[in-house]
Amino acid sequence: MRIFKTPALLRYLFPDYTWRKPNTEKNIYLTFDDGPIPVVTEFVLKQLADFQAKAIFFCVGENISRFPEIAQLIVRQGHYLGNHTHNHLRGWATPTETYVQNIALCQEQIDQIQENTSVKLFRPPYGRIKQKQFLKIKSTYRVIMWDILTYDFDITLAPEKILQQALKKTTSGSVVVFHDSVKAFPNLQYVLPRYLHYFAEQGYSFKVL
Ligand SMILES: [Zn+2]
Repeated sequence: MRIFKTPALLRYLFPDYTWRKPNTEKNIYLTFDDGPIPVVTEFVLKQLADFQAKAIFFCVGENISRFPEIAQLIVRQGHYLGNHTHNHLRGWATPTETYVQNIALCQEQIDQIQENTSVKLFRPPYGRIKQKQFLKIKSTYRVIMWDILTYDFDITLAPEKILQQALKKTTSGSVVVFHDSVKAFPNLQYVLPRYLHYFAEQGYSFKVL
């Protein structure tokens, strides 16, 4: 089963994680995971610029080291680089020490490009992080989960269906996940411009958390 909107119970069970931003008026918080990569990330940046939208890019450190100039472009255009581990590790399957080191490795890449921020943002790949891992990083990072998962990476889903669900489930304060990845690109090309257009027309702004 695909869960487009995070159930309230899950948010209640894990209140230490950020799932959405409460009490916001017509703001949506877009996030793009797994980049930066050529073509796809550049496409996303162009779309965001067209709507004066700002977003968080949860980058894989390895990709930043391969394509630093694209990471620089993200920052120059007023977006934020978040941490998504260096090698896209699965928290539940990774020893805590290895996991924490991998996050630090990613942060080294980010810190070379983005001015050091007092609060750093981290999104665990697959949304999976052990409590022990969280406790190790919580003084340095705010863990950002999501309210809306678009399933843009699911190549078995029609882009029209992805768009329809994303439009229906997003509310003010939603943290929304897209992916700037090769796999998601066919869906993203259809969904992102239409999604931005729809909510911009309704008077929404797209901001960094
Ligand atoms: Zn990811």
